[in-house]
Amino acid sequence: MSSCNEDGRGGTAPAVSSGSPGAEAPRRRVVVLGSTGSIGTQTLDVVSQHADRLEVVGLAVFGRVDELARQAREFGVRHLAVGDARLAGDARCDELAAWCAAEADGSFGVGADAVVGLTQLPEADVVVNALVGEAGMRASYETLAAGKVLALANKESLVVAGDLIMPLAHDLDARRRAAGLGPAFGPAGALMPIDSEHGAIYQCLLGEDAREVSRLWVTASGGPFRGRTRDELTAITPAQALAHPTWNMGAKISIDSSTLMNKGLEVIEAHHLFAMPYDKIEVVVQPQSAIHSMVEFADGSVKAHLGTTDMRIPIQFALSYPERWGAPVQPMDFRTLGTLEFAAPDEDTFRCLALARHAGAVGGTLPCAMNAANEVAVAAFLAEECGYLGIAACVEAVMDAHERAGVQRVESLDQLEDVDAWSRAEARRWVERGRA
Ligand code: MG
Repeated sequence: MSSCNEDGRGGTAPAVSSGSPGAEAPRRRVVVLGSTGSIGTQTLDVVSQHADRLEVVGLAVFGRVDELARQAREFGVRHLAVGDARLAGDARCDELAAWCAAEADGSFGVGADAVVGLTQLPEADVVVNALVGEAGMRASYETLAAGKVLALANKESLVVAGDLIMPLAHDLDARRRAAGLGPAFGPAGALMPIDSEHGAIYQCLLGEDAREVSRLWVTASGGPFRGRTRDELTAITPAQALAHPTWNMGAKISIDSSTLMNKGLEVIEAHHLFAMPYDKIEVVVQPQSAIHSMVEFADGSVKAHLGTTDMRIPIQFALSYPERWGAPVQPMDFRTLGTLEFAAPDEDTFRCLALARHAGAVGGTLPCAMNAANEVAVAAFLAEECGYLGIAACVEAVMDAHERAGVQRVESLDQLEDVDAWSRAEARRWVERGRA
């Protein structure tokens, strides 16, 4: 693994991508990493709806080559990457390489480096990072280091490497502000969260003084097992855990939503994104998912963000900011919304939320260890190698082991990759012991 730390940092700072069309301005040029996943396909839908303002210039997938080929032809994209290195030499990949080579500056690559390489396309203004898992971390880092806007759907980037990524985002925000590309204060759009909760908080904070914020209220649907006891969770199957009540999402995030690990990851992300201490970040269950999150101010006022439960809204805001464009989906009708309920999360039953809060509060490399263990545990659960409650148990066992071995200050992506690999191996051993 090549070191990413020096890239884009040494020498002169890279140019700031404009990404800010006025009336006559060119379209924003978008790279979509993870273009065949849930966020990726919804991003392409938003692009289709605003083809006068957005243009896709790069697409990356892990292994769905046929779908990538279809997207490349539909959007006329000649910079493509396939993440799964085992597909090098595959006939369909050769065909795509020829498609890309038909344009003088086209490019095609296979492997993780090829995916990250798309963040460096000179013509790209915005990179939508919808890669799943730890793989997205390096792409986030390189996007910001190259002076491009990062529209971030990859949770692990901030959970694992927030200490490295946020300084890059602050630096790019400052340069964007100096170039007249953002408001006079507050975030200038270098890092746009693609998540309903963080998109909501981002919008509630617009025009506000961060020093006057007293609390962030991150809302949670509570998942499909809200109200159940631990005993009732022992026999949960993957199919039951994949059926989310309000959001339609990919498999990993659906399981994380059911365990409340997703909310835990979002609390850590909010800490980094909004520079908020953990004791000022509350989680509240809002089963209808109509309120996407709230911000409470010093005078007791609370701003909430509401909208249709459809990810195309936060995706579009991340791509249109600081503008607002026509709604990509039917707006909410309050006359038919009915009741809004609120409840405290059950952290005793859904241990993952408490574990994530602990990892965030300790900081350093502990969130990295936690995240890697969770990825392994969720995959094991989906493969029916461990039970549902085994997910939290595995994560906790690996976190304990990492704390005993010594949590480190976050210093580099290479270091985080080492901790990630160690944690995965520990988690695998935990799963294997349970099966023996
Ligand atoms: Mg969310």
